[in-house]
Amino acid sequence: MLDVIIIGGGVAGMTAAIYAARARLDAVVLERAFPGGQALETPEIENYPAVPHTDGITLSNLIAEQAKDLGADIRTADVVAWEKTENGFAVQTANETLHSRALLIAAGATHRPLGVKGEDLYRGKGVSYCATCDGRFYKDKTVAVVGGGNTAVEDALYLSRLCKQVYLIHRRNTLRASRALQEQVFASENITPVWNTTVQEVVGDSRMSGLSLLTDGKENHLTADGVFVAVGVIPNNALFADLPRDEQGFLVADEDGISPTAGIFVAGDIRAKKCRQLITAAGDGAAAMSAIERYLNEI
Ligand code: NAP
Repeated sequence: MLDVIIIGGGVAGMTAAIYAARARLDAVVLERAFPGGQALETPEIENYPAVPHTDGITLSNLIAEQAKDLGADIRTADVVAWEKTENGFAVQTANETLHSRALLIAAGATHRPLGVKGEDLYRGKGVSYCATCDGRFYKDKTVAVVGGGNTAVEDALYLSRLCKQVYLIHRRNTLRASRALQEQVFASENITPVWNTTVQEVVGDSRMSGLSLLTDGKENHLTADGVFVAVGVIPNNALFADLPRDEQGFLVADEDGISPTAGIFVAGDIRAKKCRQLITAAGDGAAAMSAIERYLNEI
């Protein structure tokens, strides 16, 4: 019987693993892909304390190495089901069933789709959700980025260094992104903001060739080789349908990660909260594992 199973090996889950290792807890992290989660898709990071400038892959690798050096057990495994048992939890992966006294859900969030015609058809043929993964395919080409938050603006800045022209399509006329990022966008010579505009359809033949747009109620067309969708995130909550959640589906837990269900803790982007940053994911992981340590001492 493990002390704790951590579902998700993003920044929150890996930080929790660091704290678990130092608390000498018997913990396992289950991550379906590569340790790092959404951080792996972040092209540039300059707001993580003590690391003035880095990228998501480098930062994720550093955190994973630090966790493993301290003794963390990070396994590549897709969790398919879990249940509460008499004295804890049973978590089933494709290969094994693990038992633990506590459960930390750090399963993160994923890209919200635009939900327009042609989006699925041209996925991978022009439609992308990850600038760092796919940007290199658009060298010297024209692309659009949709969204007005930090992700959209960071993607636009990253792509502006690879592409000939970047259109930043936003449904309002002010960006939600931080001031520092906005200033860089407005100073860029090849990023053109397209205000008050929504995407109606992704159009093309065998690949996408452009976007059908609606600007201030008027239809228009933008020719583009690719579109990067960055309109927010939705929680990876499919496995946790019975747990309390907010109206957007994020799991309810306090700032120590303590959920209303005894023994279940929540950390990182899947938790209902206002601020979703790498540093708050790390903070969540630390707070939740500290709460788990207290919980395990008390039961
Ligand atoms: P976000 O902050 O929720 O922004 C989503 C953007 O997409 C908003 O501008 C929103 O418009 C727009 N949008 C939403 N649905 C849309 C739709 N159906 N059609 C068109 N536009 C739509 O999401 P995010 O940028 O992915 O960021 C997620 C979280 O991660 C945030 O907390 C963010 O601060 C954080 N993050 C931080 C950093 C950083 O600090 N460097 C980097 C990346 C992400 P409105 O503005 O009109 O609502």
